[in-house]
Amino acid sequence: MNVAIFPGSFDPPTNGHMDIIERAAKIYDRLIVAVLRNTAKKYMFSDQQRVEMLEKACEGIDNVEVASFEGLLVDFARERGSRIILRGLRAVTDFEYEFTMALMNRKLAPEIETVFIVTSAENQFISSSSIKEIAHFGGPVEDMVPKPVASILRKR
Ligand code: ADP
Repeated sequence: MNVAIFPGSFDPPTNGHMDIIERAAKIYDRLIVAVLRNTAKKYMFSDQQRVEMLEKACEGIDNVEVASFEGLLVDFARERGSRIILRGLRAVTDFEYEFTMALMNRKLAPEIETVFIVTSAENQFISSSSIKEIAHFGGPVEDMVPKPVASILRKR
């Protein structure tokens, strides 16, 4: 069985993330969306909230599981029997960071391959940080995030 892991902060999940999840779910037998718990990082949403938002947004996609992890991604991948780390690419600006991280992960775990899926044109400019900024100032984000995320952002 081909299990892929899609790791990220998902703070909050956006339509850009969902697009990658939906497309990857068609390629792999099983997709684990892995929410990073990094105590050194300041998130707007707790790991439990990020997991819940993703679970709601992924309802109906049968082969997708949402989990959270801390520590090394390659350790989590090994623990879950996955040899594929999946990442999305928006623009050239993502490339250098992703490239370095993919090489580092390969150094740590040569059996695990990082695979990139290129964003859809309509999601290219969407990022969790811009969504947080727009929502903070009361701007409209409904078109750019899954419905359950929009309602949580509105309440905040
Ligand atoms: P991280 O802090 O690990 O980068 P993010 O939640 O920002 O966490 O991103 C998780 C993954 O989703 C990354 O691979 C990122 O490139 C991808 N991603 C984020 N936004 C988009 C988008 N609009 N289109 C495609 N991929 C995206």
